Amino acid sequence: MERNLIQIYNSLTRKKEEFISLEAGSVKMYACGPTVYNYFHIGNARTFLFFDVVRKYLEYRGYDVTYVQNITDIDDKIINQSIQEGIPATDVAAKYIEAFLKDTAKLGLTPPTHQPLATKYIGQMIKLIRELEIAGFAYEVNGDVYFSVNKSSEYGRLSGRKTEEQKVGARVDKNTDKQNPADFTLWKRSKPGEPKWKSPWGEGRPGWHTECVVMSRDLLGATFDIHGGAIDLLFPHHENELAQANALQTKPMVNYWMHGGFLNMRGEKMSKSLDNFLLTRDVFEKFDAETIRTFFLSKHYRSPIEYSPELLEEAKVAVNNFYDALQDIRYLDFAQSETVVTDSADEYKRKFQEMMDDDFNTAKAMSVLFDLSRKIKNQRDFSVEERQGFALILVKFGKVLGFFSDIQARLAVTGLTDPLMKILIDLRAALKAEKNFVMADMIREKLSKTGIELRDKKEGTTWSFRE
Ligand code: AMP
Ligand code: ZN
Repeated sequence: MERNLIQIYNSLTRKKEEFISLEAGSVKMYACGPTVYNYFHIGNARTFLFFDVVRKYLEYRGYDVTYVQNITDIDDKIINQSIQEGIPATDVAAKYIEAFLKDTAKLGLTPPTHQPLATKYIGQMIKLIRELEIAGFAYEVNGDVYFSVNKSSEYGRLSGRKTEEQKVGARVDKNTDKQNPADFTLWKRSKPGEPKWKSPWGEGRPGWHTECVVMSRDLLGATFDIHGGAIDLLFPHHENELAQANALQTKPMVNYWMHGGFLNMRGEKMSKSLDNFLLTRDVFEKFDAETIRTFFLSKHYRSPIEYSPELLEEAKVAVNNFYDALQDIRYLDFAQSETVVTDSADEYKRKFQEMMDDDFNTAKAMSVLFDLSRKIKNQRDFSVEERQGFALILVKFGKVLGFFSDIQARLAVTGLTDPLMKILIDLRAALKAEKNFVMADMIREKLSKTGIELRDKKEGTTWSFRE
């Protein structure tokens, strides 16, 4: 057991608790990943990004982190999408897994230690459901298997839902096969043409709630440190995961349950079903990964955030300010030790850590970074060494929050390429104004051959390196 100062708000106890990892120096964490039936939306991105920051911060604090994020590649939604797209369910999953990996990389997320696919765990899921059945927690009706929530004395403790609510089953489909409307599906018999696996209950597929119990047990053990997702997963998904684990073990499944707030659109949770969503890949058309990161991390992870292009524009300015602040010191070796870090820079380090230790308060940690960038930019009365010290701290903590992964290249780009590109873009605009389209097109083509794309927009021409 190890003691340190990190506090985590635990959804189970509804209070902040000192974080004590199961094993000294290591953390085992699991965050529920995507169901790959479509491209993920910018609301999903908020949650994925936050848990990436939790992982990065714990690593910064010296823990060896094993981070598991599952990929749900079998689900009703995937089957529906396969009917819509007219391709097999496996092809739907493969297509959106590839897109997910590409888009999360673009978002600057470090790949989790393990990204298990549900379909690779079917055998283990069948085994677990069978154990639940033998232990008297599960029952079969016509090839479907349900978990009996009344058998679970702790059911409802995590989400704080009262038994009455469960009994009424207001939000649960009335299903005559179930003994109790609140019972949830562990195994679902397949309809003709649907993906299926053989099981003791006939051909079918496992339910979503079993997947995360099985994968977390296999990759992290029966008890692990942190389990996360956005608040929509608290009930029923996490409550149901916990009910299955509790049925099979007396020790806790998870020590710290963490749940993030929603990204809202027009006051409501962004979601596919409400059709009020923006795909992350479409947001990338206007805002880069660091801008999106700034926008999200500038709020506390448990607070809701309203999607706002205006605030994203502000975030873009803040990111540009970071790089402007770092221009002067672009030839510094960022890997060098912190020998140039002065006492006042050290004070920032203390503040940053204090904020992040307090339940990952990225909003306050970001304000430390903004302060630093202002200090470097505006206060020219510091010595070069002092400014370098601030810059090193800014880069170091920026990296902890997932910024500046390619700092040298970006500084070189903004430092030299940007002004040169501006000259070329202006020249091309002048040629177009003179109707010299041959020369204007030649500029675009020659740049394209070197991997630089020009984009003509209403507000002017922009440039970017081709991916
Ligand atoms: P899904 O693919 O719908 O299972 O969601 C993947 C992850 O995104 C889960 O952790 C969800 O809790 C989370 N999520 C879904 N919608 C939102 C939203 N509007 N804001 C923040 N997180 C969300
Ligand atoms: Zn899960």
